[in-house]
Amino acid sequence: MAPRCWRWWHWSAWRRTRPPPAGSTPSFRQQFSTQEQPPQICVVGSGPAGFYTAQHLLKHHPRAHVDIYEKQLVPFGLVRFGVAPDHPEVKNVINTFTQTARLDRCAFRGNVVVGRDVAVSELRAAYHAVVLSYGAEDHQALEIPGEELPGVFSARAFVGWYNGLPENRELAPDLSCDTAVILGQGNVALDVARILLTPPEHLEKTDITEAALGVLRQSRVKTVWIVGRRGPMQVAFTIKELREMIQLPGTRPILDPADFLGLQDRIKEVPRQRKRLTELLLRTATEKPGVEEAARQALASRTWGLRFFRSPQRVLPSPDGRRVAGIRLAVTRLEVSLVLPRDTPFSSLPTPTWCCPHSPQQGVGEAARAAPTGDTEDLPCGLVLSSVGYKSRPIDPSVPFDPKLGVIPNMEGRVIDVPGLYCSGWVKRGPKGVIATTMTDSFLTGQMLMQDLKAGLLPSGPRPGFAAIEALLSSRGVRPVSFSDWEKLDAEEVSRGKGAGKPREKLLDPQEMLRLLGR
Ligand SMILES: Cc1cc2nc3c(=O)[nH]c(=O)nc-3n(C[C@H](O)[C@H](O)[C@H](O)COP(=O)(O)OP(=O)(O)OC[C@H]3O[C@@H](n4cnc5c(N)ncnc54)[C@H](O)[C@@H]3O)c2cc1C
Repeated sequence: MAPRCWRWWHWSAWRRTRPPPAGSTPSFRQQFSTQEQPPQICVVGSGPAGFYTAQHLLKHHPRAHVDIYEKQLVPFGLVRFGVAPDHPEVKNVINTFTQTARLDRCAFRGNVVVGRDVAVSELRAAYHAVVLSYGAEDHQALEIPGEELPGVFSARAFVGWYNGLPENRELAPDLSCDTAVILGQGNVALDVARILLTPPEHLEKTDITEAALGVLRQSRVKTVWIVGRRGPMQVAFTIKELREMIQLPGTRPILDPADFLGLQDRIKEVPRQRKRLTELLLRTATEKPGVEEAARQALASRTWGLRFFRSPQRVLPSPDGRRVAGIRLAVTRLEVSLVLPRDTPFSSLPTPTWCCPHSPQQGVGEAARAAPTGDTEDLPCGLVLSSVGYKSRPIDPSVPFDPKLGVIPNMEGRVIDVPGLYCSGWVKRGPKGVIATTMTDSFLTGQMLMQDLKAGLLPSGPRPGFAAIEALLSSRGVRPVSFSDWEKLDAEEVSRGKGAGKPREKLLDPQEMLRLLGR
């Protein structure tokens, strides 16, 4: 749909349309006339955001048709390529997505890179509405000297490697070193640390790729440092993942009690979740383990530790300059931000103070910033994995993009100033939040779209939908992969995993996948 056809639309129209009050939802028949054309909607990206948005639309409109475009040959985004292989229960959402994809009114169109094979403007011309749910695929660079040295990887690539993301299958990380450093203290950092330290036999029955398992079996990594710029009160991982690390078979945690001085008093004031997490850290760092735990730790052959108040400054090369040999960390301290919400009561203003790394008790919360003290520390290691965040990228010049926030500017999922264009998931609100957060957020986008449809704010005439796009793709030599194609690949993966007792052995080579589909 060319933008000029939307001249009648005004952004303010969106603001006027609020969701109907709960309990006032009329029946399908009352809401949508059976005379009107079935809405043709397309979703870009088949991760949780794409599938949950599609689910909402199909559930709340009896005749809507949803096409889900995906650049990979296979669906499910980070549920397949991000979620750790030893967390199979998290991947159960795939069952719900499969039910959605099998509906007559839904179609999966894999192997189509939106922005390259087809433009967003072409999708807008073919559909009544387009929802962008393409996630946050880039990683945040460290931007420090030595980052390009062999042995330095983004955690994103490392995760993609063990999870069978085709573009990372050649990563071949060298795990012959003793020590690995992970930069960042979020859940992805803990996932990566856990995979590096889990006894390989514990991963044998997961869907980790056989190639990665082979490399992990040969691994000599004994120590993993998980490094954060800030302190124990600012870690970004959650208690479940921390508990898993603490109980990881064959390993022992190293936490410096000095990092936790005075924290006991401060945690009384913090929200419940942060309090429970910090208490667990505090106990692990300062309490003597019980007899059983002490015995377990004494037998441990691998260790992991959290290092606080350290910011990466430079990757140090080996003497021959050919690979990483260590990392220089700047020692930091927490700086209290003086930018406070306008109505902050005077009594709760923090003392504007600088606090030293080992005094985390001074007034600093989750928003505290790390500032360098001028001191540095060199940490020898043979592997550096940076896990300092994901980033969305613009995929089409016609779509507004906020490079600073790394998201598509939107109001509750409606893309600012582009009628009929919506977004959901990580590209909407940034790369944070679990699948459940993405679900809620995607339902909200679905709700906004439905509301606009009902209010007559989307074009009412017929739209060709996939028929038009298929012709375009065909003229460009692109052949989409359908959901039943995926089900053939799925069956092949499941069958290849059977011998080893794995849920599946993932196919890694797109050429081989296409051959299996008779292409
Ligand atoms: C390593 C890792 C582990 C995680 N583990 C958990 C966990 O254990 N539990 C949990 O609840 N959450 C976990 N999460 C968070 C969860 O994965 C996200 O909340 C969720 O995947 C975000 O959904 P999304 O659909 O926005 O993005 P994604 O899942 O990234 O989906 C985006 C999809 O869009 C496709 N795409 C991208 N560009 C294009 C294009 N140009 N054209 C067509 N398609 C395109 C991508 O290939 C992808 O399939 C994890 C995240 C990461 C990074």
